[in-house]
Amino acid sequence: MQARPGESLEVLVSATAVEARVRALGAAISRDYQGRSLLLVGILRGSFVFLADLIRSIDVPVAIDFMAISSYGASTRSSGVVRILKDLDEEVQDRHLVVVEDIVDTGLTLNYIKSQLVARDAASVAICTLLDKPSRRQVDVHLDYLGFQIPDEFVVGYGLDFDECYRNLPDVCRLHIHGRKELE
Ligand code: 5GP
Repeated sequence: MQARPGESLEVLVSATAVEARVRALGAAISRDYQGRSLLLVGILRGSFVFLADLIRSIDVPVAIDFMAISSYGASTRSSGVVRILKDLDEEVQDRHLVVVEDIVDTGLTLNYIKSQLVARDAASVAICTLLDKPSRRQVDVHLDYLGFQIPDEFVVGYGLDFDECYRNLPDVCRLHIHGRKELE
């Protein structure tokens, strides 16, 4: 896919590598939740592609629901302010939840979501993220299932966007913006 004018893309994790890893994550989740049923909580919008693939690699009974959290808009750095824009429709009390996220950066978003779900008396709350940028962590979040650790670079594709563009890329790509030393 072509980048927009003034931007360029470089593959960081290929679609083939993503596919294999997602299958392995689905197998691990299926093993760990054998004999139980599961509610996958997708964090909109970035996780929708990952969740769609992941769910097809899981072979225990599974329901899905979504939450939307305030995003960065057209910026590439977290404001640190987390706000629920869309809450779950499902009851979570006494259910086993796996929160499905696209990427963990500062950890502020997942930390907030996890505390909210624990407070609603879920039976368990695990976290599954495709990508992790550990160098920018501000709060400690335990990642139960992780696809790939990546360096501190802004990435798009496989559901992740910049300014609502590039979600449809099959690979996870670095985004370069020309004439800007660092993305802010
Ligand atoms: P955190 O609260 O961990 O700082 O931010 C997590 C959220 O920030 C992710 O769900 C995602 O929406 C956004 N984010 C963090 N790093 C990136 C990145 O490299 N690319 C994109 N597209 N979004 C990112």
